[in-house]
Amino acid sequence: MSLSVNELTKEMGEKDKELIEKAYKFSLCVHEGQKRMNGDPFFTHSFETAKNLVSLGMDASTIAAGLLHDVLEDTKATEEEIKKEFGPEILFLVNGATNLSKLKYSGHERYVESLRKFFFALAHDLRVVIIKFADRLHNLQTLKDLPEAKKRRIAIESIEVYAPLANRLGMGKLKGELEDLAFPFAYPKEHAQIDNILRDKKDVHEKYLENISKKLREELEKNKIKVVQIDSRVKRKYSLWKKLVKFKMNLEDIEKIYDMVALRVVVESVEDCYRVLGIIHSVWNPLPGIIKDYISLPKPNGYQSIHTTVFTGSGETAEIQIRTREMHREASYGVASYFSYKEQYENKHKNNANNKLKFKWLEELKGLNYSFNESKKFIEHLKTDFFSDRIFIFTPEGDIVDLPEDSSALDFAYSIHSDIGNHISGVKINGKLSPIFSKLHNRDIVEIVTRSDAHPSSKWLEYTKTTLAKKHINSYLEKNSLLNKLKSLGKS
Ligand code: MN
Repeated sequence: MSLSVNELTKEMGEKDKELIEKAYKFSLCVHEGQKRMNGDPFFTHSFETAKNLVSLGMDASTIAAGLLHDVLEDTKATEEEIKKEFGPEILFLVNGATNLSKLKYSGHERYVESLRKFFFALAHDLRVVIIKFADRLHNLQTLKDLPEAKKRRIAIESIEVYAPLANRLGMGKLKGELEDLAFPFAYPKEHAQIDNILRDKKDVHEKYLENISKKLREELEKNKIKVVQIDSRVKRKYSLWKKLVKFKMNLEDIEKIYDMVALRVVVESVEDCYRVLGIIHSVWNPLPGIIKDYISLPKPNGYQSIHTTVFTGSGETAEIQIRTREMHREASYGVASYFSYKEQYENKHKNNANNKLKFKWLEELKGLNYSFNESKKFIEHLKTDFFSDRIFIFTPEGDIVDLPEDSSALDFAYSIHSDIGNHISGVKINGKLSPIFSKLHNRDIVEIVTRSDAHPSSKWLEYTKTTLAKKHINSYLEKNSLLNKLKSLGKS
């Protein structure tokens, strides 16, 4: 195993290089003599964590903090020393990562606590969370040497806490890696089954992908499309298993999964993406109803691409994803791409029109104020508002609001403004007058009708999904019952 510092400083400027070299030496020195469970020197873990941060394209401070992320917890090094040697920014990152590791609970308690700490860190500096991701990634890579119970706990925590978070932050590549590394330890039996099936089909899949990507390349060349790259993938193991479970399918149904294999076409411009879509559909017939244009309507985590699934002959299908170079980068690295040492964070931040939508939920998170004994509520909130599948709803002006699946017109009204929610009297869904309790569907156009004398009733709580709507309804009801009490007191 090479532990050369040069692997961490490729393409970096002198100042960044110096910083990382210093952190490397410091970490190597204070971890001296410590061993990991598998007998490796402890420093290998610090080094690999930093290397994971390099491949996520993180800035030099984060990479240095990655090298130092365990020194406060596991060595004699002190906060003062870190501050003196590396400055307050790196101390902050190391402290943040250390706090995220100090979890003493198990089971549900631990789950709640990890999420709470994650969100706290997220709201302050995303980089702390990205260091934890890099740390966890290496721990999963070396998981097999740990005791059985610990293995399972770490694996399940990775699937239930780390992966959904990575997904929410748009870090698709990392999410997939975390899940696939954890899968065999979290659900050994299921993993073995999926693994067998994929191994049996490996040659078939490869041959098939080779054929259609060759055909696609020829067609694009014929049409003079400048292709940046075409790559192919077979669905990842964990996501395949989740899909089977979600749609209550048996293992034999694997043939029916239409995105089992996929091609990804990366081109230079958005215009080219649409041209490529047209070319694909002129060569292969699309499956009706599942063309997804995430370019004009990005997913809530910022993901952009066009997806289409086509019949490629003799009953076979393939999913094809089309995107620009920039979308490709963002789909892999998500928020991490804002901290790259190669890109100017500020500029990118301003230029990206999707950021407002993308990071609105992060802003909302900062406003979460749950006391310690409200842990159940906290989890419910996160599950419905942040980790569930989302739908997009349009205002008549064309603005987009994203809501959890199964939201109602009431949820939509409250997401626009509490006053609109509190005075909703009717709703037009796609131009049709509908009850205010109606469930909304993806891409509905919704217009709220208000009346000054309309107001919430406790029944509304049954027809709302979001915490925001419930909160406003409850606070209205409380205020009102208080007012009524005061009124009746005044009368008597
Ligand atoms: Mn660590």
